[in-house]
Amino acid sequence: MTGVSVDRWRRRWTHAAPLCAGAWLLASCTVPGSTGSAGTLLAAGTVPASATAAPAAPAVTVRPAPAAPAPAPGGTGARASLRGKVVVIDPGHNGDNFRHASVINRKVAIGNGTKACDTTGTETDAGYSEAAFTFDVSTRLAALLRAQGATVVLTRPDDHGIGPCITERAAIGNRARADAAISIHGDGAPARGYGFHVIVPHGIGSNDAIVTPSRALGVDVRDAFRTGAPEPLSTYTGTRTGALVARDDLGGLNLSAVPKVFIECGNMRNAADAGRMTSAAWRQRAAAALAAGLTRYLTS
Ligand code: ZN
Repeated sequence: MTGVSVDRWRRRWTHAAPLCAGAWLLASCTVPGSTGSAGTLLAAGTVPASATAAPAAPAVTVRPAPAAPAPAPGGTGARASLRGKVVVIDPGHNGDNFRHASVINRKVAIGNGTKACDTTGTETDAGYSEAAFTFDVSTRLAALLRAQGATVVLTRPDDHGIGPCITERAAIGNRARADAAISIHGDGAPARGYGFHVIVPHGIGSNDAIVTPSRALGVDVRDAFRTGAPEPLSTYTGTRTGALVARDDLGGLNLSAVPKVFIECGNMRNAADAGRMTSAAWRQRAAAALAAGLTRYLTS
């Protein structure tokens, strides 16, 4: 998500693509706390997690062998510990959104108002886009969960498309009857702030049933990410609530019928966070941490 770098995108891409000269709208990517109605902060427990990064398997070309079961992220047990579980992973934004402002800016209904179908997302100073980051972490996470036996659905198949709209991203989780859904983002907050936070649904009536389980999911994901990525808790939002922030202005949460959270994995506008998020090794640890948090939620 981002609230502050859209102008950056507009400047950058106006030169490259005339289609982008139109006004960019913010939908799901406002900086939490920067908008008056963006929800409330939740008190949160501080249960330490024992997330550990699963060692990456070396690339080998030998014939299939009876491999030892891979250690499950979080040390929760056997390889198939997630068999029967369905997880929907939503990589925020999409790589070609910036070329199609008229498509992603169209308004969609999010249960308590309207918002843009999708947004461009932010980027680091060096130009590493949020869309590329979220897709990379999502594919790493999907592989880890599938290795544990989970059925995993991604809301977009690559980083070269447009959208889907936030309404469809929620609908994919609902149609899959997901046991858990997670939307992965990087934030575009003012550069001095750093750290990650987890966004959980603030009930709007129609989604009240997912508020409690989503909060439990959020706590597990937060605890695992803090120690597993590792990444500090946000210094700029949710600072008194353990980096858990409840919002009612996100279509992805308002329209979800399954337990769902968003995670802002770091602030891409901050140099230290950008350095971590640009590192493939950190992204692998981040994915392992997310897998650990999801596994803890799904198996407890
Ligand atoms: Zn985002």
